[in-house]
Amino acid sequence: MCLSLRKPMKYARTKNKLQSRLPVDSTKINFGKGGFGIAPEFYYDQEFECIDCGAKEIWTAPQQKWWYEEVQAYYCAKAVRCKKCRAKIKQKRDEQKRHMEEMAKRPPHPHAAFFRKDT
Ligand SMILES: [Zn+2]
Repeated sequence: MCLSLRKPMKYARTKNKLQSRLPVDSTKINFGKGGFGIAPEFYYDQEFECIDCGAKEIWTAPQQKWWYEEVQAYYCAKAVRCKKCRAKIKQKRDEQKRHMEEMAKRPPHPHAAFFRKDT
């Protein structure tokens, strides 16, 4: 059951409603393999709670447009983490990637053969 796009959780209160919505380009929405869906007409700013730290953040209409139309994220996927927590995860992933690249570049330890040798 996925109604994330059709039924925004909560409309964020903004002074100007027209400014907080963006038209949806349904031709760009990724409905998944063999999936079907009815794209809504507009993106609205949505308020959500971060699943990691519980902070409340606004997922803005432009962010949603970018996420669904540029990133081609599956249309059920939605924001679950605040900016801080997303940055933390990204940092961890980058560190890991860097680490793996460093390890691949390193020549084998000169004593590796010795350590691996069975006595
Ligand atoms: Zn968070």
